[in-house]
Amino acid sequence: MEAASLLKKYGLRITDIRIIILELFKSSEVALSEQNIEKQLTTTCDRVTVYRTLKSFLDKGLVHKVLDEGNIVKYALCGSHCEEDKHHHEHVHFKCNTCGATICLENIPIQKVNLPEGFEQEESNLLVLGTCKNCN
Ligand SMILES: [Zn+2]
Ligand SMILES: [Zn+2]
Ligand SMILES: [Zn+2]
Repeated sequence: MEAASLLKKYGLRITDIRIIILELFKSSEVALSEQNIEKQLTTTCDRVTVYRTLKSFLDKGLVHKVLDEGNIVKYALCGSHCEEDKHHHEHVHFKCNTCGATICLENIPIQKVNLPEGFEQEESNLLVLGTCKNCN
């Protein structure tokens, strides 16, 4: 789907910067941090705008957070099954120690964990570290 139609579908107003950032995600095979995005932007755009754009994508279910090691947060496009405030995926994320790429492994679900009584799971994150297929 085209970036403009995607924004429309997710109830977001179409702006140049949203289109540009969405195109970056569409053409990227790896998860992107705020910094990655800022570096790839050819137009000048302040940090707040990038941050707000990501936040609106996140809130509407267009991208999801990918917790990297350390405290870096990266973002990746969601499948078609996410909606506003509801993200439905619990897949494994993979970080390559060689090239630093973080990738969504959409087809590899995180195993359900049996929690002790009284504990309720809301979400789970699993980051597997290793060597990606490009570096192997
Ligand atoms: Zn999602
Ligand atoms: Zn790699
Ligand atoms: Zn993911």
